[in-house]
Amino acid sequence: MIDIKSLPREQLKSTVTAAGFPAFRAAQIANWLDRGVTDFDRMTNLPADLREWLKTECCVPTVTIERRLESQKDETVKYLFRLADGETVESVLMHYHHGWSQCLSTQVGCRMGCTFCATGMGGLVRNLSAAEMMAQIEAAQADRGVRVSSIVLMGMGEPLDNYDNVLRFLRMLSEPDGVHIGMRHVSLSTCGLVDRIYRLMEENLQLTLSVSLHAPNDEIRSRTMPVNRRWGVEELLKACRDYADKTGRRISFEYAMIDGVNDTDACAEELAKKLRGMLCHVNLIPVNEVEGKTQKRSRAERITAFSDILTARGITVTVRRTLGADIDASCGQLRRAADREKNETERGNP
Ligand code: SAH
Ligand code: SF4
Repeated sequence: MIDIKSLPREQLKSTVTAAGFPAFRAAQIANWLDRGVTDFDRMTNLPADLREWLKTECCVPTVTIERRLESQKDETVKYLFRLADGETVESVLMHYHHGWSQCLSTQVGCRMGCTFCATGMGGLVRNLSAAEMMAQIEAAQADRGVRVSSIVLMGMGEPLDNYDNVLRFLRMLSEPDGVHIGMRHVSLSTCGLVDRIYRLMEENLQLTLSVSLHAPNDEIRSRTMPVNRRWGVEELLKACRDYADKTGRRISFEYAMIDGVNDTDACAEELAKKLRGMLCHVNLIPVNEVEGKTQKRSRAERITAFSDILTARGITVTVRRTLGADIDASCGQLRRAADREKNETERGNP
């Protein structure tokens, strides 16, 4: 089956014409798809033979809500979505003063193997298609009756490891008849695939690039993030500088504070030195403790001291507001918990 919604517009047109239908039909189909219609029978301006062809040859991937966790403290909702093939991914809907923001998954699992991350524990299962990324937004909007106005690609998976599908998705976001979210309201988070950062730079998109730095030097970063053995801190920071220079966009550095690993004053001094003069911002996040891993989050005083050093050295820094703290379970944990319960149930009821 052709995942018709994920096809770039030119390809949609060539697919439709190759099947013997006129090219203008592609634009009509695209319009229905942009508006979130997934049932070919509802595409009422298409002739019956075209609808028949769509039903036999094509599909529009959707997601269903497998689980929903609602925060009792704020309006955050965490979803576990089930995909057509039975795999599951997580997504979080958050309410800010400027509107609803959604954190999306780009892969089932991840192959980057960061030691602190629950998603990486099972390796990569598969990439999501562009339509499956869009389906997460459409499902959350329908569930809550809200309009999502900003997106962060910070759920499960490494977006730049699924480059083509993510780029296709980003282009879908801007379609005027679709969710119509501008690039200035999109953040993409990467663990630091330097070759892809350069490729993204050439796309000239006005999105915010978030870089998961989490350490000021190779010694610490290579211990927690295997990707650092391929591209070290210097190389990564050079790519970030080039990216900021070329696009004029501020880089947002994510820094998860792990007790006794990357949270000393010396780490803060070293970080400040390396970021000096760069158009950037540092986001300090108390690391989420993950079952089966030994990491502990840094204490609040440590985070403040770290933050003060960066500020004193002229680096802009925020300590991330933790929305939905009561349902937190950092990304990857809900899926793992669901899998575990399922296995236990299956073992219990052979
Ligand atoms: N793969 C991309 C995006 C998904 S991970 C990336 O790594 O950037 C989203 C963010 O969550 C990253 O900054 C990642 O480092 C962070 N993260 C992963 N596990 C975490 C944990 N246990 N506690 C806090 N942040 C975590
Ligand atoms: Fe993958 Fe990001 Fe998790 Fe690292 S932190 S394993 S890159 S999802």
